[in-house]
Amino acid sequence: MSSQAGVIVAMDWGGSWARTSVVNHAGELMWTMRVPTPQGTGSENMLRVGEEALLEAIRWCQSTPILGIGIAVAGPIDVESGIFYTPPNLLELNGISLIEAWQDKFIYPIHIGNDATLAALAEYHLGAGLCQRKVGRDVKTLLYLTISTGVGGGVIDRGNILLGAHGMAAEIGHIKIDASSSADLCNCGGRGCLEALVSGTAIARKTVNALSNFSETTILNDIDITRLSSQDVFTAYSAGDSLSERIINEVISDLARGISDLIHSFNPDLVVLGGGVTGGLSTTNLLGNLKSQISDSLMSERHKDFEIMYAQLGDSSGMIGASLMVQSSLQDI
Ligand SMILES: [Zn+2]
Repeated sequence: MSSQAGVIVAMDWGGSWARTSVVNHAGELMWTMRVPTPQGTGSENMLRVGEEALLEAIRWCQSTPILGIGIAVAGPIDVESGIFYTPPNLLELNGISLIEAWQDKFIYPIHIGNDATLAALAEYHLGAGLCQRKVGRDVKTLLYLTISTGVGGGVIDRGNILLGAHGMAAEIGHIKIDASSSADLCNCGGRGCLEALVSGTAIARKTVNALSNFSETTILNDIDITRLSSQDVFTAYSAGDSLSERIINEVISDLARGISDLIHSFNPDLVVLGGGVTGGLSTTNLLGNLKSQISDSLMSERHKDFEIMYAQLGDSSGMIGASLMVQSSLQDI
């Protein structure tokens, strides 16, 4: 990455928070703050709050040169025009271009990308990919999945983001796992998507549905089902609860099927799992089980030549990736 002197102002804009930071050339966050995303207040106010958050970061830099602004956003966005396309968590910004809205307000170049894709870029260069290189294992292609309330991801090939024609490649939450007409509904309007089967929301929904038909004893009966989360199910799994075991085994099997399809598509040598549900998964010992289920359905020994590990950069990965995107654009000039 670039060794140019100066810092990058980065933002990670999600449904709950707009987080901003100042990032140095090594990808370290030197300063960070967050403000609530003002959902329901209209696009004009949303843009004003985002702009103010960036200005706050710029003011913090004082006389330090700013190389550019990198923005990671939740949802599909055209990376060249900066236009949002029906972002489920930032719906008021649908059809709006952050580049058009902000390019005259700031004197710095603005670069925008999908948050999961940029998290993948950060994990490749400074997270899980770096861990692998430190133990002497080169990583050419990284597949990243973030599993939380939804499922997203990204693919990095030899250091570069696989963008697709409009910068919207690797919407991996919406690959079809269950083709039956009664498959679970997904937020995208389809059925049987990976997101509809393995996200935190899906795990909680499956569990609540299963509880209504379950006559045996389960420790999940002690939990208020209106507040039941995927973490409760992982905790019950670890305590040996049979219903939780059934649900988590089903989730692992669906996740393995999804990752197998993605490995056949992209041939990664490193698969990285991030997001809140992954945090629950890490409290179990199921990663080895997941890997062997994936390997069992792969077509060749070369496809099976991959490592799988948890993400290393936590929820800063979107901002770190946004800063790397700006650095990379400077090298292209
Ligand atoms: Zn879907």
